[in-house]
Amino acid sequence: MSSIFTKIINGEIPSYKVAENDNFFAFLDINPNAKGHTLVVPKKEVNKLFDLEESLYNDLMSFSRKIALAMEKAIPCERIGVSVIGLEVPHVHVHLIPLQKMEDIQFIKKVKLLPEEFEELAKAISKHL
Ligand code: AMP
Repeated sequence: MSSIFTKIINGEIPSYKVAENDNFFAFLDINPNAKGHTLVVPKKEVNKLFDLEESLYNDLMSFSRKIALAMEKAIPCERIGVSVIGLEVPHVHVHLIPLQKMEDIQFIKKVKLLPEEFEELAKAISKHL
């Protein structure tokens, strides 16, 4: 069965898309640690980050870097934090999280956003790509 992220990539489940190319898809996390929390996912469905073939792993990091640089321009923050977990969704994804303080990288405190806020954030980030 397809992962929830494959369904998002295929448009079967809605998402707040930030960017896409042939191999990767970036969209806002629906339960964000902070405003602008973005997930970068390879379209190829692989469970664990370090099981990706090396070239795809390198390309994922390079694509994530581009998104992070756009996020830094769009969202006031100290820096963009990176985390890879995958305990909830077994399809590789890089969490890019705008950080103001250490707690923002911990998956404890969440931010509630309205649909229009998600839409604005996704647009603001993609505008800088
Ligand atoms: P983890 O697998 O532990 O790295 O966490 C999976 C992440 O995916 C969590 O931060 C969720 O909030 C996020 N997530 C799960 N379903 C969706 C969805 N439909 N749209 C956007 N983000 C999602």
